[in-house]
Amino acid sequence: MNPACTPLPSPALRDGHSTQNMTASTRKSAVRTISKAKDISNSNGFEEVHKSKEMKLQELYGISVFNDAVQRQMLPRSVYQALRRTVESGAELDLEIADAVASAMKEWAIERGATHYTHWFQPMTGLTAEKHDSFLTPGGNGEPLMAFSGKELVRGEPDASSFPSGGIRATFEARGYTAWDPTSPAFLRETADGATLTIPTAFCSWTGEALDKKTPLLRSCEAIGTQAVRLLHLIGEQAVSRVYPTAGAEQEYFLIDREFYFLRPDLVSAGRTLVGAKPPKGQELDDHYFGAISHRVLAFMMEAEQELWKLGVPIKTRHNEVAPSQFEFAPYFEHISVAADHNMLTMEVLQDVAERHGLAALLHEKPFAGVNGSGKHLNWSLCDDLGHNLLDPGKTPHDNLKFILFLCAIIRAVDLHQDLLRASVAVAGNDHRLGANEAPPAIMSIFIGDNLQEVVDSLVEGRAPAQSEAANGDDLRLGVSALPDLPRDATDRNRTSPFAFTGNKFEFRAVASSQSVSYPSTILNTIVAESIDHLANEIEARSEASDRGAMIQEIVRETLSKHGRVLFTGDNYSGDWEAEAQKRGLLNLRTTPEALDYFASEANTALFDKYGVFSPRETASRSNVLYEKYIGRIHIEALALKELASTVVLPTAINWQGNLADSINATLSAAPAAEIGPQREYLEEVASVTGHLKAACDKLTVLCDLAQAKEKALALGDLAAWYCADVIAAMDAVRAEADHLEGLVDDETWPLPKYRELLFVH
Ligand code: ADP
Ligand code: MG
Repeated sequence: MNPACTPLPSPALRDGHSTQNMTASTRKSAVRTISKAKDISNSNGFEEVHKSKEMKLQELYGISVFNDAVQRQMLPRSVYQALRRTVESGAELDLEIADAVASAMKEWAIERGATHYTHWFQPMTGLTAEKHDSFLTPGGNGEPLMAFSGKELVRGEPDASSFPSGGIRATFEARGYTAWDPTSPAFLRETADGATLTIPTAFCSWTGEALDKKTPLLRSCEAIGTQAVRLLHLIGEQAVSRVYPTAGAEQEYFLIDREFYFLRPDLVSAGRTLVGAKPPKGQELDDHYFGAISHRVLAFMMEAEQELWKLGVPIKTRHNEVAPSQFEFAPYFEHISVAADHNMLTMEVLQDVAERHGLAALLHEKPFAGVNGSGKHLNWSLCDDLGHNLLDPGKTPHDNLKFILFLCAIIRAVDLHQDLLRASVAVAGNDHRLGANEAPPAIMSIFIGDNLQEVVDSLVEGRAPAQSEAANGDDLRLGVSALPDLPRDATDRNRTSPFAFTGNKFEFRAVASSQSVSYPSTILNTIVAESIDHLANEIEARSEASDRGAMIQEIVRETLSKHGRVLFTGDNYSGDWEAEAQKRGLLNLRTTPEALDYFASEANTALFDKYGVFSPRETASRSNVLYEKYIGRIHIEALALKELASTVVLPTAINWQGNLADSINATLSAAPAAEIGPQREYLEEVASVTGHLKAACDKLTVLCDLAQAKEKALALGDLAAWYCADVIAAMDAVRAEADHLEGLVDDETWPLPKYRELLFVH
């Protein structure tokens, strides 16, 4: 209760140069500026935008990409064909061809204003990295020559020894090099001041060990491709010679005004708000989800789309998401490694374009407590070189059989490798979603829809499935006479499942919004490769069977009865599911350190090694990097919160406390008989919460000071667990007091933009 009282200005304010006063007016003036701002999208001096708007989408799309059409046009026929062979089947490219490609690339790029080229790679930071070199080579008589050789295209030596390697190399040891990935086309990054030819590459050590996220992804594509082709050949699809995973990553993000962003040191340092009381209105009214997109946001989205289209990123969908100020972009699907590159570009472009619009794009999984967090739904399927989606149930009996076999492989993979799948999305920010009070939960399960579930149940029980109303005559016949009809399940959706079948693809919803999709994709490819391998082995082992159809059906039945426990159609948010999952023996790894403890287990190390995805040393190094990243993130959050609470919230609260005390004293001296009981209670509450905040800050400080000693004493896993338990508990305690004070202290003097402003003022 805030009884009406007119506090006297505190001594500092009376002096007329209080920092309190300045910070408070900074916040208020940010609100004023933002509320007066018109659409500033076109006042940013970025002329390209205007040019873009005059172009049709068809003309714009891929205009900055050295894509197939450009290659075909610019390269001699034999060079073009050699390059295609490399792209499609990984055939080695000799230096002569590389020289010809480099020369065409250079010509194309320079014509478009490029002065530099860069090998673009994805180190284990989870971000992208680049080091630019100009084409310039001074000629003998001082004339500038523009040079770019095949050697420079194929291999770079950025050294780049400061990236995390998880122990694979010490900084004084072997250097890293980048190797051209011809499967992902080169592109131009343009700014108003010039352009850079950007060449997607893999990043390895001289010993050939992967130091990045792309190399293992490409290896996992090969593993799953090989096994899938093998299985297809076993069921008579000899015409297929190549299978690759496809993906489309839906990107969720928040947009807030940049004026606010810079007034929140927590957002700047940690990417999320570390304090902030719940606003009176959040997402309770469901009025943001799919709502009309505001003009300012739409201007931002359109420019971001144009930028991405130019780069050949097939952005298809844009909409408002559940939380206020939360949005989503979704692309059309592509080869998974290109999709991974394109998602990295999407995240970069969102942040760039936001800046030009006076906004900040927040990619963190949980920028704001109390409203929905952001994820990245990774839609995933398999495609063969004849253009068939292997997860499309199809129309013919043979296609149904194929579909059921791949479905079986995936169900088995997710059940058998829940730990890895969970570990693949284990990053600090995701702990606020998975296993916290938000979904999807940390329990890995699969949703396949009621109709398909009935088919699975009937296959296991060896009976005909009950016909569902949804079938509507659109039944699918399975290839084996004894197998029942499969009703096509087109509508059923379960938004609470971490891994859902959505008609002709799976949607892995537990992926973190800020995460590179390379990592979860690599894991998913690997575990499904192992499962397909297993099914193929089973079929081969029983090749003597007289009734091949019945034999395959039996393998399907065995697999589904063994691994069907991972299927769940109900509400994944409910407490009942947690209990039920425990009964079924499913893992529930609530936090990142718990999940990471499984990553480099003996079985997983062997699995990665067997499919050539990570060598045992690479697995160990990955595991280290993942722990280190988690520890680093929480450490930064702890320091940022400590500083914010001690130097911003606490002084504000103490000043307000002084104000109240002065006001009460002044009232008593002016009117000794005045009833000031409630005012005194108010002061006591402010004083008591302020005291609690100070104590909580002290505790957090002690832990931050302990960190170095802990680092020396503990193994990485234990150190991560310490941060997860002790440090996070201390941070939660600080936040609780700070948020309580936000509701007690005079709004005029509160320096941090509040949730109602961050989320609703734009
Ligand atoms: P949703 O209900 O999740 O919005 P959509 O049909 O709109 O489903 O598709 C969402 C995403 O799934 C898109 O990014 C799309 O490109 C992707 N997608 C569709 N088909 C496939 C496929 N065969 N492989 C991978 N991703 C796919
Ligand atoms: Mg979706």
